[in-house]
Amino acid sequence: TSHATDISDPETSTSAAHTRNICIIAHVDHGKTTLADNLLAGSSDIHGKSILSQRQAGLGLRYMDSREDEQDRGITMKASCIALSVEPAAPGGMPSIVNLIDSPGHVDFCGEVSAAARLSDGALLVVDAVEGVCVQTHAVLQQAWDEHVVPVLVLNKIDRLIVELKLSPLEAWHHMKNVVQQVNAIAGHLYARAAAGERDADNLVAEARATAGEAYGVADETRVGELQFAPEKGNVLFASAMHGWAFGLDDFARLISAKLGMREAVLQETLWGEFFFEPKQKKIARTNPDGKLKPMFVQFVLQTLWQVYEAVLIEPDAPKRDKIIATLGLQVPPRDLKHSDPLVQLRAIMGQWLPLGRTVLRTAVLQLPSAAASQAARLAHLCPPLAALAPPEATGAPAGAVAAVEATDGEPNRGGCSVASLQRLRHAIDTCDAAADAPVHVHVAKMVFARGVSGVHPDDAFVGLARVFSGKLATGSGDARSLQMRRIGIDNAVMPPELVQIDGLRLYTLMGRELVPTTLLVAGLQLLARADPSVDVATLPTGEHVIATCGEVHLERCLHDLNNTFAPGLEVVVSPPIVPLHESVAITSAGRGEAATTNKLASLIVRVLRLPAKVRACVDEHKAALRTALLTAGSWLSLASAPGTDGDVREALLALRKQLEGELAASSGPLCEEPMDDVAFVLDELRAPTAAEAAAAELQSGELEGQLIVAAKDACRAAVLAGSPRVLEPVYLCELQTSQDSMGKAYGVLSKRRAAILSEELKEGTPIFTIRAHLPVAESFGFATDLRKSTSGAAHPQLVFSHFEALHQDPNFVVTSEEDQEALDDGDLPTINLARKLVDDVRRR
Ligand code: GDP
Repeated sequence: TSHATDISDPETSTSAAHTRNICIIAHVDHGKTTLADNLLAGSSDIHGKSILSQRQAGLGLRYMDSREDEQDRGITMKASCIALSVEPAAPGGMPSIVNLIDSPGHVDFCGEVSAAARLSDGALLVVDAVEGVCVQTHAVLQQAWDEHVVPVLVLNKIDRLIVELKLSPLEAWHHMKNVVQQVNAIAGHLYARAAAGERDADNLVAEARATAGEAYGVADETRVGELQFAPEKGNVLFASAMHGWAFGLDDFARLISAKLGMREAVLQETLWGEFFFEPKQKKIARTNPDGKLKPMFVQFVLQTLWQVYEAVLIEPDAPKRDKIIATLGLQVPPRDLKHSDPLVQLRAIMGQWLPLGRTVLRTAVLQLPSAAASQAARLAHLCPPLAALAPPEATGAPAGAVAAVEATDGEPNRGGCSVASLQRLRHAIDTCDAAADAPVHVHVAKMVFARGVSGVHPDDAFVGLARVFSGKLATGSGDARSLQMRRIGIDNAVMPPELVQIDGLRLYTLMGRELVPTTLLVAGLQLLARADPSVDVATLPTGEHVIATCGEVHLERCLHDLNNTFAPGLEVVVSPPIVPLHESVAITSAGRGEAATTNKLASLIVRVLRLPAKVRACVDEHKAALRTALLTAGSWLSLASAPGTDGDVREALLALRKQLEGELAASSGPLCEEPMDDVAFVLDELRAPTAAEAAAAELQSGELEGQLIVAAKDACRAAVLAGSPRVLEPVYLCELQTSQDSMGKAYGVLSKRRAAILSEELKEGTPIFTIRAHLPVAESFGFATDLRKSTSGAAHPQLVFSHFEALHQDPNFVVTSEEDQEALDDGDLPTINLARKLVDDVRRR
């Protein structure tokens, strides 16, 4: 997607101020795909061609879902992109372009969601008006916050309030207010967390800050406003994507302004809140003394909407319907009104009255920042080093003179670019400079594997879904500045590592090595990893190949792609998924470990502690880099600066500390070489050689250091084993919606899978229960299918990675009783000591 150029047609260009790059984010099933398709219906692309007819959209034909397996599942898996043209508000104005970047709704594909968010400046947050806020609503809003994307709230499926829940307009108004409040509560929460992170960071030792070398983004108070939704602000839309309509308060303000004799601006302020219209005085009042008046939103918006649904769908009544059409002043094609399917009639009427595409696209243009308005602000987030450079103006010298300043200062080049050229680039990005001679900056957010894309490349190729931040891209190779699609995709993976980091859970699958010729398999795996930034592939020393993915559905899709696209025709043998473990120690742990260097000149005693939860929370906020620093900072520092410590020994100690910080804490534990969590090592005692001893031993430089590192690692591992080691398994937060009838069965499935129920709640105004539970990842395979079968499809689970949870048993399990021995003989280890079983599994592997 490009603010400046259409890659396929270098002639078409629009100013950045008229471009909106947006994506749609939502909890799965809240209507993202339906919204996208209905948005396309009746819209035209930038060449003025219509994209999908209203009728096609009504038939459920999906444009964005282009993969075969997506259609099967109804999950949109591949981020795709389309540019839509929006008519100017005033005649003679410039049309705007809305680039709609679709992103998948399944939580497993978090990598693709953030790819879409990264290319966008704004987002449509779709929330089901009946279900309200769900787990993924939190997750996607968090992402919008993290990626500095401004959202607009679309309350979708309003029709369900009328048809399914049969709410009165007044009840529906209360219900909608409640949902808006729920969404706003998340925003408050996100802000509070960001602010708390700031405070904790301030309390951290300065040393830890320096080690982490991270710039802490300051929580920006003005950004909270972006996440506060209020219909009167214009950032809330009411919609039924399925029935093809949407409106904001401004639509009704415009529609009823003349009739009420009120200015649109006044209505915009009063239509949503606790305001009442006094018909006699023709006045808006804040009070409703005798309780006879309805809130204005109910009276002027919802009641009319309800009347349409009643006359067309609920109790079809043609004369009544035609009367409403006449009152609303609509021109509905008679052919559609004669249609036997009332839904066709409804879509025709609503599409005339409150057309979805017009409302949503206009709101995007009015409410969401243009590329020009947002690039400068987002640069700091997307590429901190570049943003940290002062723009050329800031040096006080004219742009041309900067090179001279640089030369005299002896500023080093960065990545082969002079500081001056980077400053020029930064300026070009800040100002969305699309001039042909401006520096080109393209951000490729993801690779899409395309088979024989016509006009792009004759063979199969990777196509980078990219954003042009500055300069002009053109196809063809005549011009030295042009870029070929192929080069972007395959030779230059232009993804700076800090931009593709994906947090979350990884599942592993091992594939048997003898059964497949490795070369093709390896090539296929590498293509897969390139196509999807959330996939890792590796080959173990055993020769087995590992794919790491974000979850079960993601894994299935990767294997499907491998089999069909990247390594077609190979019979690949796939092991059951392996769930990664972590290691730690019990809260009460007091393990100590001792070790000496091989030359016996130095020795140390290390104590292991469980990191307190408070420290852990703070560490989490600042990611792994800090964790290692925190663990060791205090004691090492005091040791190294102790009086009388010899210079060389001090060097060795400092080097040791650095090494340990880098390796120990974050690396593998003694149980099964899995990462350690929440562990602090305290160096209790260190005996280092005196200067005389060191001289007598004729130590080579670096020799002591090397030996100390080995000894320290040994001591740490010994301490963990001597303490109370624990294994941690990953746990999902599971949220499922079910009817009351199916609840017992849903609980049955959960209890078979070691789930811990957290809460059970009746969704207000619905017969639907929401159950929240923690479900071990190891128990999650086939869970969704199981649940669907035993509840006949009435329960839908959503799984989101929650945390690593320690198993209570000590995996250093020793058989002490006859019952244990018997159970063990019966192969029943999991019930006596699951921890030991998990560790054994890893060791065996
Ligand atoms: P996604 O997972 O967010 O892409 O959701 P979909 O667009 O696939 O929609 C999920 C389900 O909700 C589908 O069965 C849609 O037909 C249905 N749906 C979407 N929008 C609406 C709506 O406005 N009203 C109603 N009643 N159903 C809708």
